[in-house]
Amino acid sequence: MKVLKFGGTSVANSKSLLNVIDIVKESNDRKILVVSALGGITNLLDEMSTQASKGESNYKDKLQILENRHLDLIEFFIPVTRQSEIISFLKSQINELEEVLESLFTLNELTSKSLAKILSFGETLSSNIIYSVLKHKECDIELKDSRQIIFTKTVNDREIVDHNKSEKKTKAFLNENNSKNILIPGFIAQDEDGNTTTLGRGGSDLTSSLLANYSNADQLEIWTDVSGMFTAHPKLVSQAIPISNLSYHEAMELSHFGAKVIYPPTLQPLIDKNIPVIIKNTFKKDAKGTLINADGSYLLDGYTVKGISHIEDVALISLEGSGMIGIPGFSKRFFECLSNKQINIIMITQASSEHSICIGVNSKDSAMAKKAIDDNFAFEISVQKVNPAKIELDMTNIAVVGDRMKDHQGISGKLFSSLGANNINIRAIAQGASERNISIVIDKRNTQKALNSIHESFFERQIKELNLFITGVGNVGGKLLDQIHGQQSYLLENLRLKINVVAISNSSKMLLSDIALDLKKWKKQLNKSDINANREAFFNHIKTLNLRNSIFIDNTANQDIAEEYGLYLANNIGVVTCNKIACASSYKNYKELKKISRRYNTPFLFETNVGAGLPVIDTLNNLIASGDEIIKIQAVLSGSLNYVFNNFNSKTSFRSVVQSAQDQGYTEPDPKIDLSGVDVARKILILGRESGFELELKDIINKSFLPKDALKSSSNEEFYNAISKNEVYFQKILKNATKNGTRLKYVAQLEKGKASVGLQEIESHHDFYNLEGSDNIILFYTSRYRDQPLIVKGAGAGAEVTAGGIFGDIIRIGKQ
Ligand code: ADP
Ligand code: ASP
Ligand code: MG
Repeated sequence: MKVLKFGGTSVANSKSLLNVIDIVKESNDRKILVVSALGGITNLLDEMSTQASKGESNYKDKLQILENRHLDLIEFFIPVTRQSEIISFLKSQINELEEVLESLFTLNELTSKSLAKILSFGETLSSNIIYSVLKHKECDIELKDSRQIIFTKTVNDREIVDHNKSEKKTKAFLNENNSKNILIPGFIAQDEDGNTTTLGRGGSDLTSSLLANYSNADQLEIWTDVSGMFTAHPKLVSQAIPISNLSYHEAMELSHFGAKVIYPPTLQPLIDKNIPVIIKNTFKKDAKGTLINADGSYLLDGYTVKGISHIEDVALISLEGSGMIGIPGFSKRFFECLSNKQINIIMITQASSEHSICIGVNSKDSAMAKKAIDDNFAFEISVQKVNPAKIELDMTNIAVVGDRMKDHQGISGKLFSSLGANNINIRAIAQGASERNISIVIDKRNTQKALNSIHESFFERQIKELNLFITGVGNVGGKLLDQIHGQQSYLLENLRLKINVVAISNSSKMLLSDIALDLKKWKKQLNKSDINANREAFFNHIKTLNLRNSIFIDNTANQDIAEEYGLYLANNIGVVTCNKIACASSYKNYKELKKISRRYNTPFLFETNVGAGLPVIDTLNNLIASGDEIIKIQAVLSGSLNYVFNNFNSKTSFRSVVQSAQDQGYTEPDPKIDLSGVDVARKILILGRESGFELELKDIINKSFLPKDALKSSSNEEFYNAISKNEVYFQKILKNATKNGTRLKYVAQLEKGKASVGLQEIESHHDFYNLEGSDNIILFYTSRYRDQPLIVKGAGAGAEVTAGGIFGDIIRIGKQ
């Protein structure tokens, strides 16, 4: 004998019912089939009873919806000529339901008895209709109302299953009956007085396990809309996978802590008779599903942690007070007063000082729980031995579950560090003595982020996901997106890095998604987007998504954007930027950004601020971190100026060379920033600060070679006009250098905390003399590299290499 249970989604409509018919007809075993109400119907009935009992007449519209849903099934499966019997049954049930609802409407009250009666219509209707359908499909089948075999009784004010009576009645019925298939509505039962009762929401699972127990079934199959019990809620964690095998206790913990796929009380009757249960997907019959049995490990998954489950809408209630230690029977009174009110405690923690106790309960019970506690301890509160109970709402309880966790160290360490790395605060922790479960409580708004982070650290061992939000997709940003697109599969394969670009903005439009964008189409989609660029909306989008490893990428040279880095960092959004403004702003602001980045454990990387893609800042940081001391830095840091002076000769005009540098993306959008030396000054300022010196931009000595009118210009046009006018002056500078056998380089220097920049004539034996194109060169003189400097040299400007440098920073974060 096998028991098969089909949940609400499996019988929701004609399409899903077709699968059920296939599954039933496929096996020739003797079977008990348990069915739930059509998906959504129990909720509908629940809402109707609330509305009717509040005197709201719109429950009548819902009644019509309910009737139509059932009628659709009948019309789909049963030919018109044979519909009359089942349709008249449907009509009579609808009439009866309407009468009960009308009486609630008149009386304005809803008792648990009438609610159970109303909810029972769901399973009564579904089982009768499915029975007609299967009969019509020539199944050897009999229908039995579960109220004649499953009974409940009241013990200590609670309705529980009367096992003796239910077992006796079920066995008697099965003995008398010899149909191949027996169809039974789940969820509903009968009490000692003959009233309809229910086994609680999700209770069809329990009906099926009770029947498996009473009939000594070989196996219970729970058919639902997912391919088993997943490593985490599959709707919240896209990387979750079905667990092939669980022990009863693991499954019990996971379901008790929120994995709704199985109703928690379902497992006990199976444990009693050692009956295995398999969770299967009605819509993917061939998927393996999850086997739950005593051993739980015959198909070794290789994971110590088996799954993660969670309950949202938890409230933390804490009772504190210095006088608590002395109160006799304190814990007994505390728990008794809650249990008297039938309040379910999800988790308990007590500080070892015994000054406080904290429990997690369902939010809906929190007010009642507080009242029960405050009433019980009214005297102690009045003499200030304890404080009134404190409630914190909007929490989520997350449980990490696995039988073998107790044999392994470091699980909680891993759990806490994955949350810490994502800046998720843990509000309470509890570990069961069985060590099968570690529970933590966090703010509800972090639920999805926490689940994904924990899942990543326990199940996606090698894969790290980075979520990028990119602003500025012109020259550099466009190249960056191309590079990411080209490397996505390489990074996944070789570095186990999954890079998602989730949102993009340029100065006029934004493309806001909540999943990874298809990088083949970003340009078209951005052009088509009707969302106007708005920095605040972009930030809010990132913040609301609250994805782990979120990184904001700034490819602009925009001041306003640079001023917002602190906001991003403080919200646990990493910042990678080629925009120099922030790091070259006031020393106070630079320091503050570094501090926020450290405090929130959020990366702030800006390698491309100096030397584009060259490893300058990284090298400097590594030298310092490994104990080396910076003595002097000498550098040619302007790719643009280098390009300009390398290409400027007696046959070209200075203006045309500058223009061509700008056209090729070797200058800032405003070329004066490069030509005036400001850009180089900013770079040496950043290197000085990264070397540990407290420097401001005004401390950098900058002897600009530009004539006054060019320096004063206030637009690109004015600037170009000014340098055109001064062609003779530029030619003279060049002539002098040529005459001296030197080359012109714009040199930056840092020594003993003092920095300067300026145009210099470089002699032929110098390292700087042979610098090509837009190359940069940086000489680090340190304690270790005292005579021969450590030299970093290569292309120091251009969109491709800058994008590569930004990409390098992103990968650096991925490797952390
Ligand atoms: P049924 O109607 O078949 O009883 P339920 O809705 O009660 O189905 O349970 C199945 C649902 O449980 C899934 O659709 C899924 O959204 C949810 N669920 C929550 N946690 C888990 C988990 N860890 N594994 C699988 N499903 C889960
Ligand atoms: N129909 C009931 C409910 O929705 C029982 C079940 O589906 O298990 O709670
Ligand atoms: Mg269910």
